[in-house]
Amino acid sequence: PAVAELVAGRVLDVPDFPKPGIVFKDLMPLFADGAVFREVVDGIIAHHGRESFDVVAGIEARGFVVAAAIAYATGVGVVPVRKAGKLPRATHSASYALEYGEATLEVHQDAFTAGHRVLVVDDVLATGGTAGATLDLVERAGGTVSGFTVLLELAFLGGRERLAPRPVHALLTV
Ligand code: 5GP
Repeated sequence: PAVAELVAGRVLDVPDFPKPGIVFKDLMPLFADGAVFREVVDGIIAHHGRESFDVVAGIEARGFVVAAAIAYATGVGVVPVRKAGKLPRATHSASYALEYGEATLEVHQDAFTAGHRVLVVDDVLATGGTAGATLDLVERAGGTVSGFTVLLELAFLGGRERLAPRPVHALLTV
């Protein structure tokens, strides 16, 4: 089956998580299925082309899982984009609005070699706030965003429009 169908078959809808009224898309079954996980990782690499990036950036925490696999498979390095206060050295930080309050992401100031092409990955694109902050951070830290991929895009939350004109690649859009 196509990669989109494999993803669709390994997503669980969890009602009322993390709070009432939200239906959380749980991708843990996908990560736990070795054959599907490999198809997903290979599908992302094939979409972008293994020569199109010099390093992979993963967004905490589920993005780390995918980013590390892509990096290993292609022989490039992996850079973590982390929640505030986790990275030990000098960082760039970017804050963005959540429904209530705000969130902050950070990356080490020396995380990227100048001009290196960075493939950014996360598990789910919802409103696009997380991705928008991350793409800004990568560029402030000297990287060039070569692509952004998620396993699952929740189209009704408008993330793709919020990130425009930056291209978004999703293995599955619902
Ligand atoms: P956004 O900033 O686009 O609104 O939310 C995307 C971020 O929140 C991603 O880092 C993603 O991991 C997480 N997220 C938001 N909604 C979901 C969801 O339904 N399932 C999963 N697995 N992650 C979500």
